[in-house]
Amino acid sequence: MSTKAIRVRFAPSPTGPLHIGGVRTALYNYLFAKKHGGDFILRIEDTDQGRFVPGAEEYIIESLRWCGIDFNEGVGVGGTHAPYRQSERKEMYRQYADILLEKGCAYYAFDTAEELDAVRKQFEAEKKTFQYTAETRKQLKNSFTLDADTTKAMLISGQAYVIRICIPENETILVNDLIRGEVHFQSSLLDDKVLFKSDGMPTYHLANVVDDHLMEISHVIRGEEWLPSAPLHVLLYRFLGWEETMPHFAHLPLILKPEGNGKLSKRDGDRMGFPVFPLQWTDPFTGDISSGYREGGYLPDAFINMLVFLGWNPGTEQELFTMQELIDVFTIERIGKSGAKFDPEKARWFNHQYIQHADLSILSDRLTEILKEKHIEVPNDTVIKICEMMKERIHLLTEIWDKTNFFFLAPETFDAKSVKDKWKTGANDVLKELLPFIHSLANSNAEELKEKLHDYIMEHQLNMGLVMNAIRISLVGSSSGPDLATIIHLIGVEESCRRIEKAVQEITT
Ligand code: GLU
Repeated sequence: MSTKAIRVRFAPSPTGPLHIGGVRTALYNYLFAKKHGGDFILRIEDTDQGRFVPGAEEYIIESLRWCGIDFNEGVGVGGTHAPYRQSERKEMYRQYADILLEKGCAYYAFDTAEELDAVRKQFEAEKKTFQYTAETRKQLKNSFTLDADTTKAMLISGQAYVIRICIPENETILVNDLIRGEVHFQSSLLDDKVLFKSDGMPTYHLANVVDDHLMEISHVIRGEEWLPSAPLHVLLYRFLGWEETMPHFAHLPLILKPEGNGKLSKRDGDRMGFPVFPLQWTDPFTGDISSGYREGGYLPDAFINMLVFLGWNPGTEQELFTMQELIDVFTIERIGKSGAKFDPEKARWFNHQYIQHADLSILSDRLTEILKEKHIEVPNDTVIKICEMMKERIHLLTEIWDKTNFFFLAPETFDAKSVKDKWKTGANDVLKELLPFIHSLANSNAEELKEKLHDYIMEHQLNMGLVMNAIRISLVGSSSGPDLATIIHLIGVEESCRRIEKAVQEITT
């Protein structure tokens, strides 16, 4: 097996938006390459034209860019092994299919889709699953059952065909996996997969192996769903005479639903209200929109930090890592074998952590933009002060307006539960009496304001809780929010009094 320089690849098919599982695969490849000073390649596997989705490739590239997962070779950036889009490498694959045919490691099959369907149905009727194997190929229409002349004549007459791998009978195929150890496969259970189609296109299996070889890939790090294909790939390396330099394999565990049973799907995200894609995606055929982490108010670093833990752990208690720290500590040995449950709450927790430590401009720029859209003019230092004060309550960047709007706009309604629980009988009269005093605080700073308000309430033997809760509900619209004196100071005494008057008029308990 390979002892060559570290070169890994992320090889998505542009069949739709990139699932977070795909981003994690790219991330692990990237960390591994960076750690070892190797190359990270982006190869687009678009041989299945029928599944091509416009915009998917651009989406993949933009997602990786947003995440800070840079590739140093591949689609868009070029490199010594260009082109990196398999559809542009089309001409390279046929020669390898021919080598396999010559060696008897592959054969022509002429069965039509209808014929195969009929056989499949026949098997199903007998409660069996049909596979094109050493056993069944004897009854099907291929260069084993047809004589050489007939095969030749059919090829010349332009009859549609596929080239299938000829899986040997009764062999144990060993796949050495860096995560799972030795995995043994019985060849008789493997399908004679199609390698090449008469439209001139290779299938995934052939193109993937040929490209990994030609691109001198040292490690194939990919999702567990590809493990069943690994013995087929091992055989292809062997048949093509490349076994000596075959890449090492590492099959990553699945990302599971939050409940733990089954693979995390878009439906789980829809059902439970979290994205399963890095960026928002609009389906080009249906116009359906799927939510994304970026648009959902996540910071890319937080997203990456959350993602890296789905299947890997550093072996210490540390949870927060910069990308460079991840590069330093990442090892394949610490990737687990079992599936990792996705935890939407933990994702929010990571984002909250990152918002606390991020540059404040991430919040203040966003808020400034919203204020501009709403034609609300506020001095920049006030916006910054508000963001500094409120960031601790913000888990998603998208929450910024909801959490701060009361600083800029009087509440239109008062939260019914807050009123029911915290607006006590007598509050209306007390607030009315308090208005002239609040007016008199116009020139006080937040500290003084706090003290004076406190002293006034004590001197007049008012109920502290009743007064504070009623003022808060008047100013904020609910019983949440930061320090009251700071709110009064920031929105101004005039505006505070206006809001209190409005609340006194509108709230009747
Ligand atoms: N094109 C495959 C995919 O879409 C790549 C699998 C592999 O990495 O070998 O996931």
